[in-house]
Amino acid sequence: MKESNTAITQISLMKQKLHAAKLALEEINIDRNDKLKTLIQFISHLSLACKGQNLELDNKLAKLRHHMHDFEQIDEALPELVDIERLLKSQYSHTMTRLEDSRNGLNRVIRQIQRINAAPDKLKKEITYFKQELSKPFHTVWEYIPKVEKLIFFYEEILKHEFADADDYEILPQHIQLAKELAAKIAEIEFRKDQRDQILVIKEVLLGDISLSNLLESYQAILSLLLENIAREKSASQDFLFALNDALTIVRDVVNNTYNNSQRGEQLKGQLNKEINLRVNTADELVISADNLNQLKVQLTVQLSSLRDVLSRKEALEQREQTLLRKSIESMRKELNSMSQEANNYKEKLFEHQKLNLLDPLTQLANRTALEDRMEQEYRNHIRFKTPLWIAITDIDHFKGINDSFGHSTGDKTLQVIAMALKNSLRDSEFVARYGGEEFVLLLPDITDEHISQLLNRVREKIKNIPFKFKNQRITVTLSIGAAQVMENETLEEAFERADAALYQAKNNGRDRVVIDI
Ligand code: GH3
Ligand code: MG
Ligand code: MG
Repeated sequence: MKESNTAITQISLMKQKLHAAKLALEEINIDRNDKLKTLIQFISHLSLACKGQNLELDNKLAKLRHHMHDFEQIDEALPELVDIERLLKSQYSHTMTRLEDSRNGLNRVIRQIQRINAAPDKLKKEITYFKQELSKPFHTVWEYIPKVEKLIFFYEEILKHEFADADDYEILPQHIQLAKELAAKIAEIEFRKDQRDQILVIKEVLLGDISLSNLLESYQAILSLLLENIAREKSASQDFLFALNDALTIVRDVVNNTYNNSQRGEQLKGQLNKEINLRVNTADELVISADNLNQLKVQLTVQLSSLRDVLSRKEALEQREQTLLRKSIESMRKELNSMSQEANNYKEKLFEHQKLNLLDPLTQLANRTALEDRMEQEYRNHIRFKTPLWIAITDIDHFKGINDSFGHSTGDKTLQVIAMALKNSLRDSEFVARYGGEEFVLLLPDITDEHISQLLNRVREKIKNIPFKFKNQRITVTLSIGAAQVMENETLEEAFERADAALYQAKNNGRDRVVIDI
């Protein structure tokens, strides 16, 4: 009886344990199902986020979401998962390739935009900066979309700019637009020193409120100045060639005459020598055959006087020849002198002309052509001797304001003063050129990384401290400077673009500063 009681107690204990275990299992199941549901929901949302990239993937994911919705069918979804995983993997590399293609596409478009000349300067710099940013690969589509938006912005700005011009066109009469274009054109032409004042007056008229007839007069005046230059240039070379030709003709005549004279002289001298020999031979014979001394004396006196006569004729002939020769040499020397004088004049004119072609007429600094030459030369040295080479681009801040407030000619004078100050702040081995309107480019070889900022800030401070006074008003003119060092395996153009982007940054960061691209 006791035994059966013990058994009953044990069974009931086991029952209780079993019940507790069942409850615990149910709880675990509920918890697991909750977690699974959360996971399934998460997968479902994730799959929705992937939607729109690939149709096959979209279909499979929709099916998966459907199976997952019905908890009981989850097993049926499992084989689909293998397919989906494969598709997801290939989709990733596909997206990356597409992104890279798109980046290349953007680069192509940006290069096209860069070729649009009409784009305003500021926009051009922004485009250069943007292009630099495009050199880094995209990792997600979200990096790509803002770039496309930016590109659209550039196009819009260019269109706006063009459109603004079209507006101006309607408000401004066409001849005023033409006058502005003409003023810009003559700024690019190199005129002679004595023509520059006239050109300045014409420029002032062109940029003012010009009438149509005044514009036509300006065209005519510029045309005559240009024609005058062409005619001068032509006549300078023609004069030289004529002078050379005259000189050569004279020299040729002198040489001919001298030759003829000396031929004649030789013939005469030959005859005289024969005569002298004859007289000496006769005298010899007379001496040998003489038997009467007095008779011999008379005969010899006759022979000797004839001999003297022949000798003095020979001497006169030789003297004449020498005089002729001296005269010939003298006239040849004179011709040669005047010819070399002529050649020197021509060389000077040619040099002056070449110099004009390399100098900016307003500031007398090297112009863009000269800059390109020098850039090539400095780049060659940099490659050959592995010396550092820096390019700095500087742009006057708010220069338009000076023109607007104090007039274009004050603007011109300001440019001249700044140009001189820039030139004077550099060493002989350094170079500065006027790159465009109020932009200057500096080529700085042999400067170390530690010194570049110091040097450029010194230049910036120097300009800032020039005591400009316009209309009794003290004005401070500042510069923004962007600089880059030519890196290994980099072209000069690439370094130039980096310097330009740095200048853009200097402007953006508040102007009156130096930004160095590193
Ligand atoms: P920022 O600080 O952004 O450079 O402003 P900014 O006004 O200097 O720049 P922007 O490029 O808008 O204007 C440059 C001005 O320089 C426009 C043009 O009238 C003037 N300019 C260009 N060349 C000459 C020139 O030869 N003589 C004069 N007087 N002005 C010039
Ligand atoms: Mg500018
Ligand atoms: Mg400026």
